[in-house]
Amino acid sequence: MNIDAYFKLKEEVGEQVKIVAVSKKQPDEKIRTLIEAGHPDFGENYVQELVNRQEKFSSYPVNWHFIGHLQSNKVKFIVPFIHLIQSVDSLKLLMIINKEAEKINRVIDCLLQIHIAQEETKFGLNQEEAIVLLESQEYKSLKNIRITGLMGMASFTSQKEQVRKEFRMLRRFFEQIKKDYFAGKPEFKELSTGMSDDYQIAVKEGSTMIRIGTLIFGARNYQNH
Ligand SMILES: *Cc1c(COP(=O)(O)O)cnc(C)c1O
Repeated sequence: MNIDAYFKLKEEVGEQVKIVAVSKKQPDEKIRTLIEAGHPDFGENYVQELVNRQEKFSSYPVNWHFIGHLQSNKVKFIVPFIHLIQSVDSLKLLMIINKEAEKINRVIDCLLQIHIAQEETKFGLNQEEAIVLLESQEYKSLKNIRITGLMGMASFTSQKEQVRKEFRMLRRFFEQIKKDYFAGKPEFKELSTGMSDDYQIAVKEGSTMIRIGTLIFGARNYQNH
């Protein structure tokens, strides 16, 4: 745990960029330390781990973000408390989130995850699929979700120019759909890009929200889970 790294990062990126501390596969104690230092936003990738954490830290004012691949049958477990679902990658998933949210009378903020990396393995919609979703009657009828921006993960590469190109492309797409589909909707404002290794590039390319794990907490421990 590197609380100094956290404060340094906070100062470096400034007030305009929200830091989501990615706590997946990190011990509770590190999370507690960061919460007690006043940090509000935490991101998790796994539903079961997130639900356990939320219960454990329910007496603290934490905003929980879901950033991993979300299976339809697990949506109901996070809808009661989730602050932002950053990884919506299909209309079907969005409709299920809406249905579960409607049951408990919530409106859930969501980001569309856009595929920008070269690797095939990363989830997300391509730009065309995102537009098809936004044009659909089904989407337009949803009352219990709100799309507040886009999320993307750049290629896993040391080639900074490639990463920059991908973030820039996503920023352009963000501006385009903001104009075409979210005119007069100030809530559409988040561009969630940048992780420990590429947040500096992301911030230069217009990120409003960075998702940082390793840099704050140290290496993850996949064995104890
Ligand atoms: C794990 C994860 C992160 C954090 O990665 P670090 O390199 O540890 O900062 C950010 N975003 C997503 C979607 C992740 O799965």
